[in-house]
Amino acid sequence: MAKQVSPGVLALRKVVEDVYADARIAKAEGKPVGWSSSKFPCELYEAFGLNVVYPENQAAGIAANRDGEIMCQAAEDLGFDNDICGYARISLAYAAGKRASRKLDENLEYVIDPNSGKPMKDENGKVIIGEDGKPVKDPKTMQPYTELVDINELWALPEGEEKEKRLAAIKPYRQMQMPMPDFVLCCNNICNCMTKWYENIARMHNIPLIMIDVPYNNTVEVDDTYVAYIRGQFDNAIEQLEKISGRKFDEKKFEEACANANRTAQAWLRVCDYLQYKPAPYSGFDLFNHMADVVTARGRVAAAEAFELLEQDLAEQVKNGESTTPFPEKYRVMFEGIPCWPKLPDLFKPLKANGVNVTAVVYAPAFGFVYNNMDEMVRAYCKAPNSVCIEQGVAWREGICKDNKVDGVLVHYNRSCKPWSGYMAEMQRRFTADLGIPCAGFDGDQADPRNFNAAQYETRVQGLVEAMEQNAMNKEG
Ligand code: SF4
Repeated sequence: MAKQVSPGVLALRKVVEDVYADARIAKAEGKPVGWSSSKFPCELYEAFGLNVVYPENQAAGIAANRDGEIMCQAAEDLGFDNDICGYARISLAYAAGKRASRKLDENLEYVIDPNSGKPMKDENGKVIIGEDGKPVKDPKTMQPYTELVDINELWALPEGEEKEKRLAAIKPYRQMQMPMPDFVLCCNNICNCMTKWYENIARMHNIPLIMIDVPYNNTVEVDDTYVAYIRGQFDNAIEQLEKISGRKFDEKKFEEACANANRTAQAWLRVCDYLQYKPAPYSGFDLFNHMADVVTARGRVAAAEAFELLEQDLAEQVKNGESTTPFPEKYRVMFEGIPCWPKLPDLFKPLKANGVNVTAVVYAPAFGFVYNNMDEMVRAYCKAPNSVCIEQGVAWREGICKDNKVDGVLVHYNRSCKPWSGYMAEMQRRFTADLGIPCAGFDGDQADPRNFNAAQYETRVQGLVEAMEQNAMNKEG
């Protein structure tokens, strides 16, 4: 039986679909489409009604669709170093015209990969084994090989069947069909890799770059001089957006976008807080899946409404004692960092086997920008995980660990995200010293599957489970 999906989840899926569909329509109509970093103040361009899409969300989707490696390799072949963040490599390859496509033969027929597809099952649900002793594949689920193509070369083909078929062979999922940019919006509150990444896209396409530079915060409070510096850049961004959109800045629309963004952020944070229930009505992995909405649509009223609907679903689940986590919750952990999108099943399997539910994540609530006025808005955008000092970072995480009642912490040392992973060893030390909970780290990557080893991950989870078990016994003792 197909898995039941709640009304809130369905509404959230539609919101993201609409963001991409609106951008494709805008492009087809000759209107400008922007590419934005995920923590750029969306309120600024929402005031102009511009269509904007998000390369980080796109890269996560491409990685989750198992095309991260081919796109990362494509960027490396263009000369971008393997040490650059995987999101940036995927995005730069895409911006250069590279696409993951279904392989065609000389007759323009798909070349099916014999290793793809799901096993066939009999009427009792048992896997059918063939004469070779291997499970028989269901031909309906088998897929063509993936190959890299260049969309600029395909666009240059003469009109006709070949061009049509080759363009149609590009993978149909929305992230592989994102329109090319006419302008880019970059805010380096996320990290400084972002700056070079967006500069490169702007240069490749010869398009305007709107940059908001957020200085690193060495103190917990955001200094007034930072606020003045960033507000000045907002004025400059507005002037650039006026030129791109051909419209004057509309104060009323801006206020509307701020109200929507606040409403979305508040509903999102309340959804995150449902992980505090014991047992939790869902897993942090569900939260990761909903991040697409808070990244791509937080300035839209539809996103706020969808999260409010999800809240109702969760309240109902708590009332009925239900959870979307498909196993009883024995241990609760905080998952630190961005998940390995290409390897979600590998991440989940050992957790499920040991009854470990992810009931706290750092990545998700970091998108909850809540403010009452312009200065507070600037201050909120200064507080991204990689732009705050270690004291603030530890305080945030320890607060989440306590509120969400975790027994341990699982840290993703993400090869892509060096600014994030760099201070994790010290953070791990402090979590154990301050909260008395064990931590375990594993090596991985958010987008490039070459940097993840399932066997290492499994042993680290096993170690964490043993330490949590011992901790529980010591407490009981
Ligand atoms: S914050 Fe990390 S994951 Fe995000 S763009 Fe920067 S390096 Fe990549």
